[in-house]
Amino acid sequence: MDLPRYAYFHGKIIPYSEAKIGVATHGLNYGTGVFGGIRGYWNEEKKKVYVFRPLDHFRRFLNSCRLMCIDLDQTPESLTQILLDLLHSDVYQQDIYIRPLAYKADESIGVKLHGLIDDFTMFAIPFGMYIKNDTSAHFTVSSWRRVDDNMIPARGKITGAYANSALIKTDAVRAGFDDALVLTQEGHISEGSAMNIFMMRNGSLITPPATENILEGITRRTIIELAENELHLKVVERPIDRTEIYICDEIFMTGTAVQVTVVTQIDHRPVGNGVMGPVAGELRRLFADVVRAKNPRYAHWNLEI
Ligand code: PMP
Repeated sequence: MDLPRYAYFHGKIIPYSEAKIGVATHGLNYGTGVFGGIRGYWNEEKKKVYVFRPLDHFRRFLNSCRLMCIDLDQTPESLTQILLDLLHSDVYQQDIYIRPLAYKADESIGVKLHGLIDDFTMFAIPFGMYIKNDTSAHFTVSSWRRVDDNMIPARGKITGAYANSALIKTDAVRAGFDDALVLTQEGHISEGSAMNIFMMRNGSLITPPATENILEGITRRTIIELAENELHLKVVERPIDRTEIYICDEIFMTGTAVQVTVVTQIDHRPVGNGVMGPVAGELRRLFADVVRAKNPRYAHWNLEI
């Protein structure tokens, strides 16, 4: 993977190689940080990068900060300005991924959230596909359970909670799958290791509600809007039982990294007839145009760099 060239660090944009923290940093030792993941898409005709829904990403990022008692004295607008400044220094002519990260910056021992220094950094890197076979992925159901709202809130993008995601992902890949779905403590489908789930069943598009220990995905929200407005589908937010995914017609996963990734096999069972279904196909086409600023109806989601 390419390294970033620059980073916003201690209030300035500096070479990435100079943006360093000490090994005793609280966030590194205890997972007391929060982050975001935003994509910028290269539009070949316009010769520009368009960042997708930065204000929504920064709103969620600041909510994650609130959960972890991190006070950055920033707004979604001021963070977007930092993003613009960064990408005006660190110029890319390709698809990129932008990572804002806030963390407890004290170099001290002691597990807590209060009375510690908060710090913030942001960097961008070139980024392509996350799951290679994004039209025919094979998923399993993880034996790990999703972190619960009263353990580490999945609603926040908290660095420490991604140990849960990493356990889910590595065990799935080592067992020969592309990724895994993970169940809540009650045994309902929550989401994937780092992506939300949608299922087509009996003509409705169904996704777990925000109360099923999901990260409230920006891509999830985008897909709900596109499915309702463009495909006139009925979208239902309700708990999904594990066995529903073995008998439904289509499954696809959504997220900044995975975009719209189609799952055609679950635990060696075909999903529907085992190939990408029509709803997933149509939403992939719509989404690809919207994120690359090729659909004027959704131009308010595209920030031109
Ligand atoms: N769930 C988890 C656990 C994630 O890490 C992500 C990626 N940020 C998502 C869902 C998808 O969220 P988004 O569409 O906002 O990227």
